Amino acid sequence: MKKFLEFSVDIENFIDELKKRLESNSAKVTELLKQDKKTYASFVKPLEMMEEYLEHFFTPLSHINSVSNTDETQKIYADSLPIITEYSTKLSQNIEIYKVYKEILENEKNTLNYEQIRVLELNIQHFELSGAHLDDEIKARLQEINIKKSELSNNFSQNLLDATNEYEYIIDDEKDVDGLPSSEKDNARFEDDGVVKYKFTLQMPSYIAYMTYGKNREIRETLYKAYVTRAPQNAKIIDELLALKDEMSKLLGFDNYAQYSLASKMAKDEKTVLDFLTSLATNSKAQAKNELKELQAIAPEELKSFDTAYYGEILKKAQYDIDEELYRPYFEQKSVVNGMFEFLNKLFGIEFKKVDEKLWDEKAFSYDLFVDNKLRARLYLDLEARKGKRGGAWMHNWQSHCKDEKGDEQLASAFIVCNFPPSSEDSPSLLRHDDVVTLFHEMGHAIHHMLSGVDENEVSGVNGVEWDAVEFPSQFLENFAYEPKVLKLFAKHHESGEIISDEMIGKLVKSKNFQSAMGMLRQLEFSIFDFKLHTKVYQGDEVQALLDSIRADTALIKTPSYNKFQNGFAHIFAGGYSAGYYSYKWAEVLSADAFYSVVDEGIFGSTTAKKYLEIVLNGGGAKSMEVLFKELMGRDADTDKLLRLNGIK
Ligand SMILES: [Zn+2]
Repeated sequence: MKKFLEFSVDIENFIDELKKRLESNSAKVTELLKQDKKTYASFVKPLEMMEEYLEHFFTPLSHINSVSNTDETQKIYADSLPIITEYSTKLSQNIEIYKVYKEILENEKNTLNYEQIRVLELNIQHFELSGAHLDDEIKARLQEINIKKSELSNNFSQNLLDATNEYEYIIDDEKDVDGLPSSEKDNARFEDDGVVKYKFTLQMPSYIAYMTYGKNREIRETLYKAYVTRAPQNAKIIDELLALKDEMSKLLGFDNYAQYSLASKMAKDEKTVLDFLTSLATNSKAQAKNELKELQAIAPEELKSFDTAYYGEILKKAQYDIDEELYRPYFEQKSVVNGMFEFLNKLFGIEFKKVDEKLWDEKAFSYDLFVDNKLRARLYLDLEARKGKRGGAWMHNWQSHCKDEKGDEQLASAFIVCNFPPSSEDSPSLLRHDDVVTLFHEMGHAIHHMLSGVDENEVSGVNGVEWDAVEFPSQFLENFAYEPKVLKLFAKHHESGEIISDEMIGKLVKSKNFQSAMGMLRQLEFSIFDFKLHTKVYQGDEVQALLDSIRADTALIKTPSYNKFQNGFAHIFAGGYSAGYYSYKWAEVLSADAFYSVVDEGIFGSTTAKKYLEIVLNGGGAKSMEVLFKELMGRDADTDKLLRLNGIK
């Protein structure tokens, strides 16, 4: 068995080394293609491993650039991107490789195992979804469409960004910022000729601050109107994008873009997705109406779209006032990490042992992961915020579990990066409960990658997992961060040792589910709109008409007619979510369903948990998540479980 890689990056010689490796890879491809008899073992496996080794070499650079960013790492990273892109583009358009894959699949389909077949199928699909296999004329048109699409997407987000940056609203009457938290006031405050004034913009934190705390209703409406009427010129871009995506999908052999999007996802067809979203909407409606009634009861006037955040905050404060500072002492970082390990041990029987090795920062640590005393993977944790570290939290896989060309087993490794408060010798790092949830979430991704038993790296761990199912393991694990049995393992006051009370835990759950049905309907409105929009070519007023028809069903408060939400829907027009916004809810249902099976079995000692380890985690991307989920639960996912998780009855 191979040892884990040692973490190091030779910044100085990185680009030279990268070029050398890519050249040798390209030479290898040529050589592999020259073979007389190409088989899985002689052709596919070497290609697969070649890409795995490139990952081994490149990941430390992207990692270090994210966690210990300097001008130097940034430059080397930026310089290496076009080199890597050129290489992978060439590879992904090499039609000879595609032909060989198809031949091998045909010749060996009776002798290959399902992991190998999946590798071939996914690679073939990848070529076909890009159109690399089509004739030159169509390929040229597809390329044109792609260039045009990325230009339009870029313009879409630029217009949105410009509109967001252009706008400001100045408040000079102190009364109008009454009620805002002092930190928000400080952020907005400036002096103009010795007079104190407050500036609000359409940037997220600033906009949200006034919409949530701002007492002056007229100002709220002004800000809201400015926000939902941004970038009207994007309407034309939407038309063009929708037409191009439709043309592209048809050239690739699909009826529409929604179908094209689903080709690489777990959800089977358009009807499945729409039925799924509609049933969630139908079942959330009654409670959403009650939530709105409750909100209306504390508002002196009829609620409008620009009132809900404001009254929501007042109601939430009155009902479930969560003071984060009261919770922090219960979530000392080290005891949270050790408690999470203990929880995973009790749930799955897996064990983490700290490794004594020097890493990129003294606050970064590595752990070996054992199952039944057998070494299975290595985990790197880098949890504290510091200068030069990108914000947010993520899991990044490094090595993937597989067997190499010689049949030697390679173990998996992964990084978890967070930005928790830094600890020092005399002050511990105390987390918010949200941070604990984040850590569980990323750990869910990490064990998905690390506990893979798949022998083909391209479909091992998180590799090859369908886009709408990737968040299943992470959301599954994060749900446990609200369970009393789990929290009580580690949520002890770091000074008094007192264990967190049921009452405090109950508040966390209630606060999470505050107005959850209204939130659910809103997300469903976006998802249904996105999905339907990509089922045929909507143009001009038809786009608004479609949105209005969906809102008639999902919006409990009448949306003002000036609201042009679509012109700001960057997720689908400038990001990768077109006909895929439903994925959030899709993965949530899988995770809620599996989660409640474990909870209903008492969590520790749950047989579903053991099966989850054996089937879902072990199975990686080698089977569709649809198959794995059925093997786990013996049936399709049950949407009611998501409603239960959100406290919707
Ligand atoms: Zn995630």
